[in-house]
Amino acid sequence: MNRCDRCPAEAKVRYTKAGEQPWQWCAHHARRYDAGLTSTGWRRFALVKAPA
Ligand SMILES: [Zn+2]
Repeated sequence: MNRCDRCPAEAKVRYTKAGEQPWQWCAHHARRYDAGLTSTGWRRFALVKAPA
């Protein structure tokens, strides 16, 4: 499985931006950093589908 870049949890979300290394984060870290990233041009992609 994909692991979070900041902790041993499973990564749920990847963030990409042209010219930058992608980040991939667990739900916890994605929540913490989402607003800061998306407001500076990073794009969010789900790695794991959310439960219906
Ligand atoms: Zn994490």
